Amino acid sequence: MSTGEDLLRAHGLRVTRPRLAVLEVLTEGGHLEVEDIARKARARLDSVSTQAVYDVLGALSRAGLARRIEPAGSPARYEARVGDNHHHIVCRGCGAIADVDCAVGERPCLSPGDAQGFVLDEAEVTFWGLCPDCQARRRAEAAV
Ligand SMILES: [Zn+2]
Ligand SMILES: [Zn+2]
Repeated sequence: MSTGEDLLRAHGLRVTRPRLAVLEVLTEGGHLEVEDIARKARARLDSVSTQAVYDVLGALSRAGLARRIEPAGSPARYEARVGDNHHHIVCRGCGAIADVDCAVGERPCLSPGDAQGFVLDEAEVTFWGLCPDCQARRRAEAAV
């Protein structure tokens, strides 16, 4: 298990306390909004501005240590699960996001019938539906 310092250096980034803190927050898992990341990073550092967190997230994303997703109608979120081309399921009810493995296992996963001469490297797939909690809530409401 490599440390945050190792990861940053291996990806060509200088090690700084804000970068380490944000990386640790992301490594705990989930798909976090910038405000959540900033709040959790502040619990680890004395202070870090939201702008600094944005800057760190940009650096981590460019270095391939973080992935940015932005489901329609939702603010951008970041996660540390990178490099596996996994897809996301988003709940239409509450906005919960879950990971699903890439349907094929590698990019671009899906191919259009006619790529129009483009060289494809990615298909951004978002599945939409209702999470178990929202299904239960709807059933409870329907039973009233
Ligand atoms: Zn839901
Ligand atoms: Zn994910």
